Amino acid sequence: MQISITEWLDTSAEEYSEKNAIVDSHGMVTFTEYRTKSLAIAREIIDSGIGHQQPVVVFMGKSAKVLVAFLGVAYSRCFYSPIDVDMPESRVNKILEILAPKLVITTRELKEKFKQYSFEGEYLIYEDILPSKNDNDIVTPVSRSILDTDLLYVLFTSGSTGVPKGVGIRHRSVIDYIDWVTSEFGICEEDAFGSQAPFYFDNSILDIYSTLKTGATLYIIPKELFSKPFELLEYLKTNKVNTIFWVPTELIMVAKLKALKKVDMTNVIKRVLFCGEVMPNKELNFWREYLPNAVYSNLYGPTEITDACTFYTIDREFSNDESLPIGKPMPNTEILLLDEENHLITTNQQGKIGELCVKGTCLAVGYYKNPEKTNTAFVQNPLNDRYEEKIYRTGDLASYNEYGELIYNGRKDFQIKHLGHRIELGEIETAASSFETIIRNCCLYDTKHSRIVMFVTSTCEVDREELRNKLAKLVPSYMLPEKIIKLDSMPLNDNGKIDRNKLKEMI
Ligand code: AMP
Repeated sequence: MQISITEWLDTSAEEYSEKNAIVDSHGMVTFTEYRTKSLAIAREIIDSGIGHQQPVVVFMGKSAKVLVAFLGVAYSRCFYSPIDVDMPESRVNKILEILAPKLVITTRELKEKFKQYSFEGEYLIYEDILPSKNDNDIVTPVSRSILDTDLLYVLFTSGSTGVPKGVGIRHRSVIDYIDWVTSEFGICEEDAFGSQAPFYFDNSILDIYSTLKTGATLYIIPKELFSKPFELLEYLKTNKVNTIFWVPTELIMVAKLKALKKVDMTNVIKRVLFCGEVMPNKELNFWREYLPNAVYSNLYGPTEITDACTFYTIDREFSNDESLPIGKPMPNTEILLLDEENHLITTNQQGKIGELCVKGTCLAVGYYKNPEKTNTAFVQNPLNDRYEEKIYRTGDLASYNEYGELIYNGRKDFQIKHLGHRIELGEIETAASSFETIIRNCCLYDTKHSRIVMFVTSTCEVDREELRNKLAKLVPSYMLPEKIIKLDSMPLNDNGKIDRNKLKEMI
């Protein structure tokens, strides 16, 4: 039985030794090099004497080095916590205060930058760590002592109160998830993944560990290509990348700029997977038109349940203004749709909206050193009064459609009451996103003036009256935005999603 994710690297280094495991803009790392260097890092961590299950911060720009460091930390029976090198100083300090790490892995160059933060621990400089012949002997007894309930990583997500929340995920949750991903999508050593997600964002878990497990190659796509869709597609083509798992924002960008029309990607892309926010059918239909033979799958889930817990692999046609289902739970995962009185909503109660709650091995241990927030989100299953059983309350709203599939209905906290009507702002956004000229849109509720405000980016000038008239065909009149603000570009947060806090400031 597999206990630790490090076993994947042990096996892949044997089976695919000289094959490229990771390719980035600096070069490539074979599976053997991956393991050799990570064992050297593990030995340094063990030698530092910090002990087991301690946080080790990884502070490096997105590159193969980061993944080698992650595995090094895992082999040493500690857990890693990546910090974005562009994160504002005050936020880094908040994270360091929570983690209180004794070690950071960084580069010579970035050490200077890290020195300005509130950190009093030791530095491990990546370039200075050299493999030695005793590494295996020193590390193996430690890695063999790993429990599958040990933490593998802590990823920080933004907290509503301004203090980031550190989500702690165990080895077992990642093993469970990746076993499913690789078998569901038939991943093998011949595959090549194109990584978009930053390594401090949970979408990267699928990229990192699916490739590690199967011997597939992970291409770290240079960030700047995401603003140059034609070059981006050329990059995928040249490197024979056949699998992508991106946030919808990036897929939308490629569709909007009609890059697929100019670069022939037939027989290149085999799988288009996405997660993290709503994927509008208008743009998905564009991808489907140009790449009809690819597998498309909509994965859903928050960081707190190990990346994703439900999925829907597209198997039928959708019109541009329809919602794409988030589908059904993955194996070994249960979804409880609970109404406001904590009653279970069943598949035959079509359209009834409830909070999506999750049960299973995928659940995080909670928020690192934050019992208060942990206890509000990770709660006793209200349907079980017989023994302790945790569920995670996502704050997302969902309902069942006529196929028994889950439909995402927005956030619990974006539901509004306007003129006595209960409204999901996501419904208006889905409607507007089906219009040809609208690139992105986002609706907020202006409580001060009791009005719905819509922010849009568009390929042309926005005729507000015309937009409202078109919307009136899709949503009830009380849902029509009273104010429409055109922006040159939508503000995005670090994960590439629309930054609603920034928009609020513009109301
Ligand atoms: P994160 O923890 O950053 O992955 O964000 C998780 C949140 O993103 C979820 O709680 C949802 O609100 C949203 N989300 C994730 N996947 C999807 C999806 N496939 N469709 C719609 N929203 C999604």
